[in-house]
Amino acid sequence: MARGTVLVTSPIRASWHVGRVASRRRETASAVRLELDVPTWPGNHAGSHLDVRLTAPDGYQATRSYSVASSGETTRVILAVDELPSGEVSPYLVHQLADGDELEVHGPLGRYFVWTPTEPDRSPVQLIAGGSGVVPLFAMAAAREHETVDAEFRLLYSVRTPEDVFFAEELSALSKTTVDVVHTRTSPPGSPRAPGRLTQESVADLVFPATATPRIFLCGPTPFVETIAGWLLQLGHDPTRIRTERFGGSG
Ligand SMILES: Cc1cc2nc3c(=O)[nH]c(=O)nc-3n(C[C@H](O)[C@H](O)[C@H](O)COP(=O)(O)OP(=O)(O)OC[C@H]3O[C@@H](n4cnc5c(N)ncnc54)[C@H](O)[C@@H]3O)c2cc1C
Repeated sequence: MARGTVLVTSPIRASWHVGRVASRRRETASAVRLELDVPTWPGNHAGSHLDVRLTAPDGYQATRSYSVASSGETTRVILAVDELPSGEVSPYLVHQLADGDELEVHGPLGRYFVWTPTEPDRSPVQLIAGGSGVVPLFAMAAAREHETVDAEFRLLYSVRTPEDVFFAEELSALSKTTVDVVHTRTSPPGSPRAPGRLTQESVADLVFPATATPRIFLCGPTPFVETIAGWLLQLGHDPTRIRTERFGGSG
């Protein structure tokens, strides 16, 4: 999904674009993967997001942010949207948006929560995701596959069940990122770990130690991010090396 590096030296300006749904497919039991053709898209760094704006026939508008699973110099923009059944925008994107439909998007956004292979920092990179929070982190791991940089990558991914794993096939094909999936409700047969939420101890076991001075990208629902960030600090990680992105929801 990474199609060539976008250089840090060429800043990309966010603007409004019109995309067309090129394909959609079921990603998990509650999520879809949308591939948009956005002819004017300037490319994006891995980890960026965009805003989707929906306009009703009466002019009412609703805007929500979605991470971009693709990166690089491409006009094919990939999103993965999880349905919040009581939500305003996600049920429309999951159930009603059809192939060929147009969608207004604004981006790319998020200069802070991106990984670029041209960064001089060669420390290990620790990715930590809860649920759909894996989308921008998957973009980083996928981008890293095509680069010759020597930074070690690890992904710790918390999901409810094996059926809830986003990008399952692509994650299992990653060769340069060590992936640990922790299931909170149901583990796959033969799994070494019983289902259960992450704990401070399991985070300590499954992420690079503070002594390795990793850069950490942490993304997911707000309560997940806040809990894990608190544990990382208690484990001695440098707060200036932890970047977080909160998808919403309250604790
Ligand atoms: C930078 C950024 C990137 C994002 N990327 C993605 C992405 O790649 N894929 C994706 O599926 N979502 C992503 N989100 C979340 C997305 O923007 C919407 O918040 C989500 O789709 C819900 O929108 P809605 O209109 O359906 O629900 P709303 O009508 O906005 O909310 C309905 C109810 O759900 C609560 N709620 C809102 N968001 C969440 C949440 N994440 N978890 C639990 N409860 C919540 C609200 O407080 C409200 O009570 C991202 C959010 C941000 C800020």
